[in-house]
Amino acid sequence: MHSTAPTAFFIAGHLALDFINTEMGSGDSRVEYLGDDAQVLAWLEQAGVSVAEADRLDNDASGSLHTAALALRDTAKNLLAARKNAGYENPAMLNSFLARSHCYQQLRWENGQSPACLHHHRISAWADLLVPVAEAIAELVVSGDFNLVKQCENPVCTLWFYDRTKSHQRRWCDMALCGNRMKVAAFRAKSKNK
Ligand SMILES: [Zn+2]
Repeated sequence: MHSTAPTAFFIAGHLALDFINTEMGSGDSRVEYLGDDAQVLAWLEQAGVSVAEADRLDNDASGSLHTAALALRDTAKNLLAARKNAGYENPAMLNSFLARSHCYQQLRWENGQSPACLHHHRISAWADLLVPVAEAIAELVVSGDFNLVKQCENPVCTLWFYDRTKSHQRRWCDMALCGNRMKVAAFRAKSKNK
């Protein structure tokens, strides 16, 4: 499983939103960050989701991780858009991912250090690696403040983020990516109308 994954954006401030941001733009300018099994695995690692247990699985995911990731992303987009627009979306697909969870705790205690509880996910299929992402989606759907779950105001940008600024005035996925571009466009439009 080797393929070079493009470097995905982690600008959302929430795992579930970073996950739906792995598909960016539309039409000719669409960028896919989850192109195959290896790219999904690389993204999970970049996102800080443990993939250590994957070593115990068959070497080849044969597309199963990729297929599962796209299905989870689709349902995440629908669920979050429904919450954002005060609508409804059937959670059955998300629940099928949540049902894969085999979570257990382990006590880590090194001599001379404070003990701590660590959460582990038992993995028996490739799609099980996506459980922490599914849990983040469920948590956001239930507990997220959807006034602060926003989509970038650049109309050609599709990125979502959780506005954690004090003033709650965040408008862009990223200032360098869209903020400046939109300000320049607004300035040009203003000068033209003069
Ligand atoms: Zn943007």
